[in-house]
Amino acid sequence: MDLQALVCEVHAELDAASERGRVADYIPELGKVPGAKFGIAIATMDGRCVTAGDADDAFSIQSVSKVFALALALGKIGDGLWKRVGREPSGSAFNSIIQLEHEKGIPRNPFINAGAIVVADVILAGHRPREAIGEILRFVRVAANDETVSIDPAVARSEQEHGFRNAALANYMKAFGNIHNPVELTLGVYFHQCAIEMSCVQLAQAGLFLANSGRDPRTGISVVSKERARRINALMLTCGHYDGSGDFAFKVGLPGKSGVGGGILAVVPGKASIAVWSPGLNAQGNSQLGTRALELIAQRMGWSVFGA
Ligand code: GLU
Repeated sequence: MDLQALVCEVHAELDAASERGRVADYIPELGKVPGAKFGIAIATMDGRCVTAGDADDAFSIQSVSKVFALALALGKIGDGLWKRVGREPSGSAFNSIIQLEHEKGIPRNPFINAGAIVVADVILAGHRPREAIGEILRFVRVAANDETVSIDPAVARSEQEHGFRNAALANYMKAFGNIHNPVELTLGVYFHQCAIEMSCVQLAQAGLFLANSGRDPRTGISVVSKERARRINALMLTCGHYDGSGDFAFKVGLPGKSGVGGGILAVVPGKASIAVWSPGLNAQGNSQLGTRALELIAQRMGWSVFGA
């Protein structure tokens, strides 16, 4: 089936849905985003990008940024990162503190908030927060091959003012010696990274290197090594949707990372990178329509890492 026709079909089918989940409002700035927004973009190896709906609207990528931050941190300290962060699915909510106590301040994986805060701490080492934030943003711009990607300062501020749970997680890990910089500086980097805004088109393009063994197929630039791309994909598959990761793997069958802004990045190795956005979330904090859209696209295209 023609990819453009398929994307339009899936968008039209789901856009009629009245039950779209709940827009996150624990970061007040995110609560202002209209729940009716819905965009899909699929970037393919040949440089094409097919879209439907609000695919050009910028939204807060939130935890999808954890994928790029992880790639950057691994580039800095390599496998040493795994002494400070695990690689197992958490089975808990994105901001759970309970597991941290049992596991002595070592977060389960780099995609739950605690793990991503450690990753931000690694990127901050030896830098000022502004430099670290600039480095993350530059990495995303290179991956997207788009210099216009930016950070929404209002979202960063909103999260800084209401990020009590993240502050608790960071302080708790600091008590175990797993945060090396001053907690408020590490959190500042993390909040700004989450406040990166991108459209579905930009996000789909930024994910292409993960579908192409670490190399941007358009520019030929090697963003990460082949092995690293494979491992990041593995972590996205097992840990990318918090305590909904198993269900996402079951229904969609592709590596994916969601954010509370309602965006999801999914990778089809060797074929494509997909970004979907609909702000209403399901009970696990993942985009309700976005997940369903990925399920239909994967099903109808026969895309799955588990076999055609
Ligand atoms: N910035 C959000 C938080 O830390 C990220 C969570 C998410 O996107 O899942 O609460």
